[in-house]
Amino acid sequence: MTQVTLEGFPERVRIVDVGPRDGLQAWPVPVPTDVKIEMINGLIAAGVPQLEVTSFVAPRAVPNMADAAEVMAAIDRSRGAELTALVPNARGAARAIEAGVDAMVVFLSASESHNQANVNCARDVSLAAAAEIARMGQEAGVAVYGAIATAFGCPFEGDVPVSDILDVARAYAGSGITKITLGDTTGMATPRLVQERCRALAAEVPEADVALHFHNTRGVGLACAYAGLLEGITRYEASVAGIGGCPFAPGATGNACTEDLVYMLHESGVETGIELDALIGVAQRTEAALGQKLPGQVMKAGPRLRQYRRDEVRSSSGSRA
Ligand code: ZN
Repeated sequence: MTQVTLEGFPERVRIVDVGPRDGLQAWPVPVPTDVKIEMINGLIAAGVPQLEVTSFVAPRAVPNMADAAEVMAAIDRSRGAELTALVPNARGAARAIEAGVDAMVVFLSASESHNQANVNCARDVSLAAAAEIARMGQEAGVAVYGAIATAFGCPFEGDVPVSDILDVARAYAGSGITKITLGDTTGMATPRLVQERCRALAAEVPEADVALHFHNTRGVGLACAYAGLLEGITRYEASVAGIGGCPFAPGATGNACTEDLVYMLHESGVETGIELDALIGVAQRTEAALGQKLPGQVMKAGPRLRQYRRDEVRSSSGSRA
């Protein structure tokens, strides 16, 4: 059945599942490596075209990412899904290249104090590291993408000026990094801010190929994606079952949920190449494996046209219908 795309939306969107990294890095207990591998391979089998599978940070800083190389080695690469990993410095980049990632993601915060809290150095230092990693990537034939954290607000400084985002984007572009993600690290994005920042980037740093990364901390993750879609943005980072958070950002729980986003996109006539039922299965199995209720909603309610037998459903009076 051909579906008409919702007016103003792009016809096709690339979904990047960041659950294995953003979702699990701050998980309060160790997550077994085989749980991560099953989750990643499940996402790939469901048709997710790009995944942020791990990060090559110091194991002491983020114990749940200590198995980065082991995870990379066990991923099913037969379907050609693009595997990216977060990389904070040259040492991490060397490990990531060795492990065979398709792309490295460098990151820094638009706000100085969040960058200090997150990676314990000034933005200039992070930018210099990004430039070095960009050179390493070029030499090794590995792509390098840039993420801008706290792009919609900072838990320490409040509003982050658009000019700061543009400065970081220009610096990235100057190092040859043009695939740039605006990260809503602590769930401070709103549809209005999304529109404002996407338009400013399109006007001032036209070489930037922008992706959006939202957290559902305040319940507007999908509304922000909606605003991005109206701006023609075609890459979105989300995490299966809505797991996620930043350990150094107070209250920053819950990425925008991949299957909820995919549901909204498909119902809007936007193609993702992902099988929603299979994705819901991954979300449910991940919830079972982690042993904790996860925030995704479509994984609980099912697709819109899920049908019930009448005797399965309670009436509003509480008796069987
Ligand atoms: Zn995040």
